[in-house]
Amino acid sequence: MDLRRQTPDHSGAVEARDRAAYSRPMSRPSEAKDGIAPTLAAPECPHCRKPTPFCVCEGVKPIESRLDLLILQHPQEQDRALGTARLTALHFERAVLKIGLSWPSLSKALGRPVADPSRWAVLYLGSAKATDLDTTEEVVAINRKGELEEHQRAILREIEGVVLLDGTWSQAKALWWRNAWMLKCQRIILGPAQPSRYGKLRREPRRDGLSTIEAAALILSRLEGRPDIAETLNASFAQMLKRYREAVDEQPSLAPKPRPKRDYRRRRQA
Ligand SMILES: [Zn+2]
Repeated sequence: MDLRRQTPDHSGAVEARDRAAYSRPMSRPSEAKDGIAPTLAAPECPHCRKPTPFCVCEGVKPIESRLDLLILQHPQEQDRALGTARLTALHFERAVLKIGLSWPSLSKALGRPVADPSRWAVLYLGSAKATDLDTTEEVVAINRKGELEEHQRAILREIEGVVLLDGTWSQAKALWWRNAWMLKCQRIILGPAQPSRYGKLRREPRRDGLSTIEAAALILSRLEGRPDIAETLNASFAQMLKRYREAVDEQPSLAPKPRPKRDYRRRRQA
């Protein structure tokens, strides 16, 4: 069940290949694909896979949550400086992180049978916005038409697991469309009271666009009625951003190159 023991399926293969590329000696810096400047000399943390100046995972104790967590990461989302998928997974005993584009079913993605996928929530914003719906809730269940589900509380109470899509907007969209089984799950969107703590480090095209760790914090703490989950995860994220800013202040070459603008080109202003 943990991310260090992945089955050698398609997603594992992608991950292994990527890891090999990243751990090559720095004498071949031009092959670094993750946006980290080639002058990077810092070793990588084996747990969160961040360059050690950015690592905050040392003090992380896995939380015993009631819900399962499955994080599906787009293979091109390998932002080791500012990404949060691995750090999020390290926070939970019941977390699985998979890297890939498509899986035939939720069970295959998770690596174990799932009796009722409708009891799994998938966070996918798409064109839906909580602010357009008649709700003030921060976690909102919607139907296939993007409308508010009736019986929000009953639906959310029944949820057994959560799927998060880790990547840019276009990458999350690709994961959504390539995995038809997600339509059997309960789609949720977020209406966060606070915008992402990334601030200017990563331009989010929407106010409800959160990092993976912030989304996990909000959803699991809400669905389990455990504010401590949000406190722990948000503290780790704040620590990660602090560490990042300090490290880049000291050594500007550690900063990743800006993300390509095309990730955002199709976003329409609200
Ligand atoms: Zn680490």
